[in-house]
Amino acid sequence: MTATATATATRRPPRRKPTREELKPGECLCDHCTGKCCRYFSLPIDTPTTWDDYDSIRWYLAHQHVLIYVEKGTWYLLVMTRCNYLRSDNRCGIYFNRPGICREYKTTNCEYDADWSFDKIFETPEQIWEYAEAVLPPRRRPRDRTPVEGLPIVTIGE
Ligand code: SF4
Ligand code: SF4
Repeated sequence: MTATATATATRRPPRRKPTREELKPGECLCDHCTGKCCRYFSLPIDTPTTWDDYDSIRWYLAHQHVLIYVEKGTWYLLVMTRCNYLRSDNRCGIYFNRPGICREYKTTNCEYDADWSFDKIFETPEQIWEYAEAVLPPRRRPRDRTPVEGLPIVTIGE
């Protein structure tokens, strides 16, 4: 392919996927999707109330491809990781034997056209810590256990 042909191909606008309303009778939304729901999983977590709770979330966020979001008062852990059964054509490789959670998931309220906006979202440990500092009372400093310089060290049994 020549450089001109490459440039022309690069300029071609991406194919627009149909909206839900534009779907023709008999067509499935998944036929036009990149398998968005098969590229992450998300679980509700306890609402953090203490410094230790926020510290645990800080640990979650220390890992790659993890984010925390809050929607309608519920906190969620989201891991952006592709299902091993998602094929390169964005179809399920074990469709007739897929887990129940996949069977129960319906296109009627899936994220086909979702913009992934949430009430709150945290992507880094620094963000969650800053939030904790804003909503929690100040932390108590741990007791300083450094020995005071100059005092004799007592050894039991001598
Ligand atoms: S259920 Fe929705 S998000 Fe999942 S593949 Fe089908 S259209 Fe895409
Ligand atoms: S098992 Fe199939 S439907 Fe379920 S997440 Fe994996 S690819 Fe998607």
